Amino acid sequence: MRLALLLTSAAAVLAACTPETPAAAPPVEEAAAEVAEAAPLTVNVLDCGKISISDLDAFSTSGDYKGVPDEFTDTCYLINHPNGRLLWDLGLPTQLVGQPPFTQQIFTVSVEKSITDQLTELGLTPADVKYVSISHSHFDHIGQVDQVQGATWLVNQKEYDAMFPPDGSAPADPSLAANFALFQPMTREIIGAEHDVFGDGSVVIFETPGHTPGHASLQLKMPESGPILLTGDLYHRTESRTLGRVPRFNSNEADTTASMTAFEKRATDLGAKVIIQHEPADIALLGGVIR
Ligand SMILES: [Zn+2]
Repeated sequence: MRLALLLTSAAAVLAACTPETPAAAPPVEEAAAEVAEAAPLTVNVLDCGKISISDLDAFSTSGDYKGVPDEFTDTCYLINHPNGRLLWDLGLPTQLVGQPPFTQQIFTVSVEKSITDQLTELGLTPADVKYVSISHSHFDHIGQVDQVQGATWLVNQKEYDAMFPPDGSAPADPSLAANFALFQPMTREIIGAEHDVFGDGSVVIFETPGHTPGHASLQLKMPESGPILLTGDLYHRTESRTLGRVPRFNSNEADTTASMTAFEKRATDLGAKVIIQHEPADIALLGGVIR
């Protein structure tokens, strides 16, 4: 989703030590116990804002959403892996936290609690976040990057180039440039079309381009829930998926359609549960945690 000028307006208010000699390996029994006691993969679902939409027409090229209002959740996901934490998506802008709902064009947006506040409630701080990755660089997925500047940003080259065009020109939505600039001080790791974050296949970022040039989705293999796919904005609502609706504001509509086909094949092959990140019904079912 794009909201020109929002950020411009909102912005206005807006060791591990490596020992010289490796530690001795623990006895086999002890090592086995450590493995058994390692915290399993869990996900905390963070509330990164709400988006009321007065007219959904922009979300379907078929015209069948015209005049229909809707409510979107704006969710972020704290992936807790034994080898570190990944924060997937960064929600609406920090500057909106605690403010009255802000309306521009068809969108009314609000944020109750910052990501940092929600980490505090979990007994964590932003320093506990090892990696950050965004599904894509729209305003409702990048807004709280100011809070996790110490994390390593995982981004594919296509999305990076969309945010920072190699020729030095402005991004497609120039109003986002100031927010994009907050990603530049971060340690950056350019990732491929499919990136296994922790090397064990449990957390995989995979490209689903078309909504933006380097749009990505997230595959999880959860100990209790099994395979799960987080859509990013490949789909915005349940009907987008069941009816195959494509927004009017894709960077490439044909790519979005192809990504939907590939995503559905992956979901079928894995037997995965699909979570549409902006769909309140999907988020309510999670109860705040995925195990
Ligand atoms: Zn979105």
